[in-house]
Amino acid sequence: MPPYTLPDLDYDFGALEPHISGTIMELHHGQHHAGYVKNANVTLGRLDEARAMEDFTRLAALERALAFNLSGHILHSIFWKNLMPKGGDRPDGELARTLDRDFGSFDKFSRQLKEVAATIMGSGWAALIWEPIGKRLLITQIYDHQSNLSQGGVPLMVIDAWEHAYYLQYRNRKGEFFEAVWHLWNWKDIAGRLEAARKLDFGLTAGPR
Ligand code: MN
Repeated sequence: MPPYTLPDLDYDFGALEPHISGTIMELHHGQHHAGYVKNANVTLGRLDEARAMEDFTRLAALERALAFNLSGHILHSIFWKNLMPKGGDRPDGELARTLDRDFGSFDKFSRQLKEVAATIMGSGWAALIWEPIGKRLLITQIYDHQSNLSQGGVPLMVIDAWEHAYYLQYRNRKGEFFEAVWHLWNWKDIAGRLEAARKLDFGLTAGPR
């Protein structure tokens, strides 16, 4: 059994239509995400071999491949859970209160997240993260799958801004895709991730926030 496996979706490929087409979902999950899982496992195998052979000449490339593919696996796994058919609207409870506290209002938060997605140069992600030292929510613009993410930050809610996430359906109108996902958010999933992340204690700060 390889260390990482492709998780099943909680819904059918076509269940997020019309906002995300079934064709995109099938390719995105079955080809792109599956590729990151496969390559994370392949890279771990090559690291095993490198240790066994005591041949570390390709180590930098292997570490970069591991960060890219494993981060791709993790971000896609979160993205699928963040979405649901007939989702959207607004969060309530503790998630809503914390978004208001750290971004001023839900509208300011959603505007910033969409802009962060839209202004990525090249491939990347927009992510709402829990920063466990300052004990606050932040929005991060991630390049590829792994660069520019604050260490220790826990991704709670992510938007895939790679062209493969929207191009077949939205072509170059990526802003329409970044609006469309707001009909699909599973706020219960995102609130659960915040609740779990809040329990992280890095032992670097005094007192709860
Ligand atoms: Mn993707």
